[in-house]
Amino acid sequence: MSETKKILVTKSYMPPFEEYMEMIRPLWESHWLTNMGDYHKRLEQELKEYLKVPQVSLMVNGHMALELGLQSLNLPKGGEIITTPFTFISTTHSIIRNGFVPVFCDIKDDFTIDESKIEQLITEKTVAIMPVHVYGNICNVQEIETIAYKYDLKTVYDAAHAFGETFRGKGIGSFGDLSVFSFHATKVYHTIEGGCVCVKNREQYEKLYNLKNFGIRSEELVVSVGANAKMNEFQAAMGLLNLKYINENIYRRKQVFEAYQKYLGECREIKLNQYREGLEPNYAYMPVLFEDAEVRDRVYTDLRKEGIFARKYFYPITADAACFRNKYRLNQLEKARDFSERILVLPLYSGLEMCEVERIAGIVRRSASGKQ
Ligand SMILES: *Cc1c(COP(=O)(O)O)cnc(C)c1O
Repeated sequence: MSETKKILVTKSYMPPFEEYMEMIRPLWESHWLTNMGDYHKRLEQELKEYLKVPQVSLMVNGHMALELGLQSLNLPKGGEIITTPFTFISTTHSIIRNGFVPVFCDIKDDFTIDESKIEQLITEKTVAIMPVHVYGNICNVQEIETIAYKYDLKTVYDAAHAFGETFRGKGIGSFGDLSVFSFHATKVYHTIEGGCVCVKNREQYEKLYNLKNFGIRSEELVVSVGANAKMNEFQAAMGLLNLKYINENIYRRKQVFEAYQKYLGECREIKLNQYREGLEPNYAYMPVLFEDAEVRDRVYTDLRKEGIFARKYFYPITADAACFRNKYRLNQLEKARDFSERILVLPLYSGLEMCEVERIAGIVRRSASGKQ
């Protein structure tokens, strides 16, 4: 390994230390550390505006937001949910942990679920569709809405990669019955750990409130069975502060993204991600597709030798995870499997220096063309 410092695929954004200290000082006076404190409430309000969605319920992390979001729809247990296998394992786990059966649908060139293949997977048991805005690429939300309407299905979007994006001026979290964001430390926007469910109305918001707070409404009143998934005040303070810097951070990501495009755009052996027209992207990830698995693995290894840790997101696809093998109906997942074997996500974060981007791109180019 070279003597230069390691570069990981992402690096958590840290706001100015003193500002965070100022934010948490009042907590030492109030002793109110969690249970929907002032910061929790304020962040729900601010995120509602920033994300352009009707209601936001903050959660302790993105996965619990997915689990409780799905649970809040009260769908019949044992029902089938059509979803993508080209995602982080959390999406699939949230389906199974809610007592539903995942039905995997293949993807298309932009890595999102292939909406033209959804209808043929619908059965008597289908209750919902759970697509993912992979790498911040927006799914075909209109077509999915049409299918959901035609078959009376619910739609739950895993929008963990899509924080702050808009499509034709609409907040990306406003599509479907609900959308879920993750605010994990490694994401574009973070609250250390955290997440939220975006819903349409107050009634759904109240359901989520009960689910994240044991169903407790007052000292002596428990109205429903619930879990504990509240976001605490330290997380919310980090969230309020990071929201101040989010636009600046996305702008810096854009510059890194454009630099990669400049250095890799002409390279025949590499296919870059294209954002759809009408989408205001957040530049969350830098996925690149190579010609075959062998080239991808060579580039991955050559980068590692130089201290650069690109990641094989998403490999393997969730349908092939060891814990699910042979458990669920396996449909044609040709493209998802093929892409997962050829994909590599390069480092992209707001503090990544331009000279580092140039160096990484140089290694990728040489290695991909077999000239390393
Ligand atoms: C990060 C992520 C999650 C889970 O979020 P956590 O906040 O880490 O629990 C779910 N789905 C996708 C696609 C993600 O990238």
